[in-house]
Amino acid sequence: GVPVCECKSCYGGKDCSEILPDCLADADSGDPLFLEPFWKQHAASSAVVVAGWHRMSYRFDDKSSIAAELEKCIRELHAVIGNAKTDGRYMIFGVGSTQLLNGAIYALSAEDSPSPASVVAAFPFYPVYKSETEFFDSVEFKWLGDASLLKNRSDSSGTSIEFVTSPNNPDGKFRKPVLTGPSAKTIYDHAYYWPHFSAITSAADEDLMIFTLSKLTGHAGSRFGWAFIKDENVYTRMQRYMTMSTLAQSHDIQLRTLKLLKVVLKERGRKLFEFGYKTMRERWERLSKSFSSSKRFSLQKLEPQYCTYFKNVTGPSPAYAWIKCEREEDQDCTAVFQTANIIGRPGIAFFGGSRYVRLSLIKSQDDFELLLQQINALISKESAAA
Ligand code: PMP
Repeated sequence: GVPVCECKSCYGGKDCSEILPDCLADADSGDPLFLEPFWKQHAASSAVVVAGWHRMSYRFDDKSSIAAELEKCIRELHAVIGNAKTDGRYMIFGVGSTQLLNGAIYALSAEDSPSPASVVAAFPFYPVYKSETEFFDSVEFKWLGDASLLKNRSDSSGTSIEFVTSPNNPDGKFRKPVLTGPSAKTIYDHAYYWPHFSAITSAADEDLMIFTLSKLTGHAGSRFGWAFIKDENVYTRMQRYMTMSTLAQSHDIQLRTLKLLKVVLKERGRKLFEFGYKTMRERWERLSKSFSSSKRFSLQKLEPQYCTYFKNVTGPSPAYAWIKCEREEDQDCTAVFQTANIIGRPGIAFFGGSRYVRLSLIKSQDDFELLLQQINALISKESAAA
């Protein structure tokens, strides 16, 4: 008989090329699958095979160890991209940057302080800073909330630790700390400071900087991140945190990361970053075009900037759309999008207010096409009503 072909979900029509109008566009998570086609193109050169008896020991501390080679490779990558200065800094690997974020708070808060360090971030911010800090709440540090609460406080209320995400999640803007001065400490989260998402404007040169493989190569499930630390005491404390929580970092993931980064470093990163930037730029241009005819919704404004890596002015290519509902009656922006079959992350999750919703632009191409179709349908209703 004739084989019955089923279209993949959300597609229909004669040759399965039409997107079904009622299909749900899930733009909630920041799963970076936009890079999957790149790794399909480099499947053989990026593959890792490990024999069962290899690297079984807890230890590998000889000078030729993978950790040392990986460290060298990561430093070289930052030098090539020009997004961070790494000379004279200590380096720590973590299970994703998620583990390092809390390790950094522990490392920056003092053991002998009479009052706990206040942990803050400026609105809108990545919600894990709050949830993780509250979960691991200790006598040494406490989550306080919005960074400007401390700025306006005149008494010297002890150490503050501020998360600065630059470029920021959700809005893609470059950020500077709100708090300054001798008792203000800063954790720079540079998860998105790669040419896919942002112009590289200068090499970051901060005391504590955190990066992640998740948004660099897209291997979010591998759980690998790293931190650069200037101060030796902070480094020692953070190292202690890592030892207590995981004893040591997985050798397998170090091996896989090394293999991936060697592919990335070929031709000074051109292949990966040109693919990543082109993909994200194209998505942003198409999305901006769709929103340009809307009065009901507005996208965040981002400016073209000179990128020292591409040696060119590059247009915005952010990881997320941070959308504002402008109409008085659209108090719950997430619900407005939900009615149009679009799932976004509520603005209140980022402490940015219910008039905002975040849509992820870094998922697969199919996900993006479906999202754009539903956005266009939503916006065309607006002009039909006008
Ligand atoms: N920081 C920011 C700003 C993020 O958006 C994310 C992930 N979405 C992370 C850290 C955590 O990433 P991971 O643990 O995968 O390294």
